[in-house]
Amino acid sequence: MSPGPLALVHGSPGGQASLFENRGRYHDLLAGRFGRRFLDYRAAWDRASLRQDPGPFPLSLDLAINSGCQLSCLMCPLPSRPAARRYEPMDEGLFLGLMAQARERALPALTLGLASEPLLNPAAARYASLADRAGIMDIRLGTNGQALDGPAIDQILDSGLTRLEISLDAADGATYQGIRQGGSFSRVTGAIDLFLERRAARGLTWPLLRLSFLELPGNRGQLPLFLARWGQAADMVAIQRPIWFPGSRLEKPSPPTGPPPAGPNPGQAVCPQPWQRLGLDHLGLAWPCCSWYGQGLLGLSAASLDVASIWGSDGLSVLRAAHLGGRLPGPCRECALSGAL
Ligand code: SF4
Repeated sequence: MSPGPLALVHGSPGGQASLFENRGRYHDLLAGRFGRRFLDYRAAWDRASLRQDPGPFPLSLDLAINSGCQLSCLMCPLPSRPAARRYEPMDEGLFLGLMAQARERALPALTLGLASEPLLNPAAARYASLADRAGIMDIRLGTNGQALDGPAIDQILDSGLTRLEISLDAADGATYQGIRQGGSFSRVTGAIDLFLERRAARGLTWPLLRLSFLELPGNRGQLPLFLARWGQAADMVAIQRPIWFPGSRLEKPSPPTGPPPAGPNPGQAVCPQPWQRLGLDHLGLAWPCCSWYGQGLLGLSAASLDVASIWGSDGLSVLRAAHLGGRLPGPCRECALSGAL
């Protein structure tokens, strides 16, 4: 469904996610702030999307600054993984070491939060500030918004974060609680209103606000209500289709009956992530992407190797070659069949 006056700025190759933007915000504002450096980064991202030269360093790091989450969402595998569900922060020394590498390599983009809820970590806003001081242009934080109270909002507004991304997935409380179990709809919508109010009162632009709606059987029919409520208030709106993970409580999708999704060149898989980004869990374990399916694919850790070495490792080179040759390893095949690609 098209969200009306919002403009489509990005669609994932298989249609799993569509990002709509209000008022030409993200690209124009960051280009205005960082000029040629930002435009070069986006051009490099486009080349990476075509699975061309990955360069010497990822364009984005996706960091779990902690493990765990306080909710039990239907679509998430965390509730079935007690160890991953438990809160444990990333070692600060590891984070600082990563920021030193980010500064040295002029890392363009960072996401705080990977397969976990980053606002459980009281250092989240401070880490965004450290990332800003390391020269990273685009600093995102993805959250369920449950811990976003007044003091947390003020810290975030002061932090240098460029994008605050909040998952809603519902237009009313009963639907929200059926999907995001353990969460409060009024708490998160109240936090969104307060964030917008304080950002406007202080005359601030940053961080931009992205709200997301994951289309699930339990919220069918609610997207128009969600868009009517938030379509103009948010800077960006993401409309997503679910990815099935083992341990989630969604129904596993049937394997597609048609031909496999086509990449930009014949015979290529469509996943661009091993050319774009590196995920690191809270212990430093490297993922070639931001998907749970990528968790065990590399077996390398940023606790013992620098990011450039992981990015240039045989493991990632072999994975990229397998993707280019259409020989996806098992987890990537599962990922493709789960609705991710
Ligand atoms: S698991 Fe494989 S196919 Fe899925 S996002 Fe990660 S690298 Fe891409």
